[in-house]
Amino acid sequence: MRLQMYINGEWVDAVTLEQREIINPYNREGIATVAEGSEEDAKRAVAAARHAFDEGTWARTPANERGEIVHEIGRLIRAHREELADLETLDTGKTVSESLDDMDDIANVFIYFAGLADKEGGELIESPLPDSTSKVVREPVGVCGQITPWNYPLLQAAWKLAPALAAGNTLVMKPSEITPLTTVKVFELFEQAGVPAGVANLVLGPGHTVGAHLSESTDVDLISFTGGIDTGKRIMQAASTNVKKIALELGGKNPNIIFADADFDVAVDQALNAAFFHAGQVCSAGARVIVERSMHEKFINALVDRAKNIKLGNGFAEDTQSGPLISAEHRNKVEKYVAIGQEEGATLALGGKRPETEALQQGFFYLPTIFTNCTSDMRIVQEEVFGPVLTVETFESAEDAVAKANDSIYGLAGAVFTEDIGKAESVAAKLRMGTVWINDFHPYFAQAPWGGYKQSGIGRELGRPGLEEYTETKHVFRNIKPDPLEWFK
Ligand code: NAD
Repeated sequence: MRLQMYINGEWVDAVTLEQREIINPYNREGIATVAEGSEEDAKRAVAAARHAFDEGTWARTPANERGEIVHEIGRLIRAHREELADLETLDTGKTVSESLDDMDDIANVFIYFAGLADKEGGELIESPLPDSTSKVVREPVGVCGQITPWNYPLLQAAWKLAPALAAGNTLVMKPSEITPLTTVKVFELFEQAGVPAGVANLVLGPGHTVGAHLSESTDVDLISFTGGIDTGKRIMQAASTNVKKIALELGGKNPNIIFADADFDVAVDQALNAAFFHAGQVCSAGARVIVERSMHEKFINALVDRAKNIKLGNGFAEDTQSGPLISAEHRNKVEKYVAIGQEEGATLALGGKRPETEALQQGFFYLPTIFTNCTSDMRIVQEEVFGPVLTVETFESAEDAVAKANDSIYGLAGAVFTEDIGKAESVAAKLRMGTVWINDFHPYFAQAPWGGYKQSGIGRELGRPGLEEYTETKHVFRNIKPDPLEWFK
């Protein structure tokens, strides 16, 4: 497979003709060769998006017509769900059933924003001044730069592409350089759905060149980024060149509070899923269990018993429950954190190494790992590992649990498990996080906003706020009986 970039309605190679090989993290085999863009390509894409916004018709196309095109993209994604899911599994190693769920969610995101396109137009407001009208309208922001990570390649792209298009913006998307395949395929569907040339552009390549240009360029009006906190900070600085709008979805170290009165089997099962789904490479992974002291031993034993049976393997095999990590570099990072946890005095209750199974030696696999006897001040508890590593702390009271859960620079998501709904609601109200789940972990959908408190980010994706992010608000005031003011006589 040889894939190109999409700029101004044309499929093109990089100006330098450079290419990159994309590999399957399950066996390190090459799966595709893609154009490797540079700053020059990013400049061409930004120029195309700028021209399409300033001179083109997209921003002025009636919102319901834009909605129809966005809806058609969603329909085409549904029609190609298997092909796209296979590509996502090849590229990331995740199980194909996860990838199929991702594709369904992605189609739903396009359909949701298609429906919203003509429902956020504006409103008349009551002017406090006599003989006047006052209306508030929403308009597209302009040219949007969009940068995505490797863990949910197409899902994260969809959260940005669908609302940007529905709201009438033009855009330049840069997917993670290691997982671009599904994003390229969806741009082929954009073409089929009738997105005009120049409106949606795709540049492939590294963050420090292509991504940096999108963040710095004074021709870009908004930069939307999902990825790590350090990159987010760099992008925020670069965006100051023209005070562009910024939307940041950064990391998390998400607490999972388990009270002794929770449904035990549900809490164990959900804690397992929270921490080890997609090998823990999830921004909202429940990597930090905080369990009531009175039952912590029973809980840990059950967790360890089940976690050791998680079946690692090829994402295409039916019995595989979890795939590999994304890269050798990322596995090194996870291993570094496990060493830190041991140095800090946490007890390694499970894992802490690569699997020994012969069949898994080519992939970047790492065993599900559980640390007990953890305390809030440990780096293994505070920092995002982004791998299959779970830490367990204990608490004595609800206040103690909340204080520990909030003791973090992050504030993306968290959960509370208890059968006492009053207690659950009271804890949920005190957690400083963008999403709180009660007796569940991980559900998200197009209708509900997603984003972080504190250093987990700025702004919201999905839901109505996800569309608002891509609009400017204008107040139009009209004097219907103009008279001279005679202030300056
Ligand atoms: P990353 O920050 O290394 O890279 C993300 C993207 O930024 C890539 O496309 C990369 O090429 C680009 N980039 C790198 N340097 C850049 C620069 N200087 N300027 C502009 N762009 C640059 O993150 P990653 O390792 O790909 O993804 C993992 C991180 O993403 C984790 O921290 C995870 O928590 C976060 N994440 C957050 C959410 C969320 O919704 N909050 C969702 C998914 C992932």
